[in-house]
Amino acid sequence: MKNIMFIAPPAAGKGTQAELVVEKYHIPHISTGDILREISKEDSELGNYVFETLASGKLVKDEITYQLIEERLKKKDCQNGFIIDGFPRNINQAIEYDKILNKLGYKIGYVISIKMEEKTLEKRITGRRICEDCHSIFNINDPSSAPQVESVCDNCGGKLYQRNDDNLESFQTRYQMYLEKTAPIVQHYQQQNVLYEVNGEDTVENVFKQIDKIIQEN
Ligand code: AMP
Repeated sequence: MKNIMFIAPPAAGKGTQAELVVEKYHIPHISTGDILREISKEDSELGNYVFETLASGKLVKDEITYQLIEERLKKKDCQNGFIIDGFPRNINQAIEYDKILNKLGYKIGYVISIKMEEKTLEKRITGRRICEDCHSIFNINDPSSAPQVESVCDNCGGKLYQRNDDNLESFQTRYQMYLEKTAPIVQHYQQQNVLYEVNGEDTVENVFKQIDKIIQEN
């Protein structure tokens, strides 16, 4: 199985699609956002810095992400493929990622860019809910991914919560960060001939069909 990277604006459904890939292909899902959210709970200087940066919608310092990505990719479960979500977020991280892959003997795999309009993203961001226990992702503004019972996880019955950076103010900063810093890395991967695009303006199921087709056919 080739590795998979998602590049997409905030709330385009990277996490949800990654969960579906994990379910079908049983490869680990590595999300820098998830790892950083765990670090942000720690009562330390690093924990406090990460907590405040995440809440502001800005990016944490590159060096912090390099270390955590390399440590995670060294684990045995990554040897048969993995999904990387949320990294790289800028061109420096993309260049460093090439080096880390090289060092560990891994290939880049599929780079999947999920395209979406800003208006749709705004609607999604305020509706996103996450399970406290199993981390499943729902959206109360999207009938194809709304929970059956309000605030309750369909998968495990856990309580759903809203991320503290899922508000319109933080979204504006995160979206600007995406346009300025993350979108330009698409070209980096186009040049390596590993870029695939999917239309995110569809149901969760149909977006997954587009992704699965790329995996099956390439
Ligand atoms: P995400 O869950 O991918 O939306 O990420 C949530 C937040 O974590 C972002 O708004 C950033 O503050 C931080 N973050 C995640 N990945 C990175 C990264 N590769 N570089 C810097 N900051 C990141």
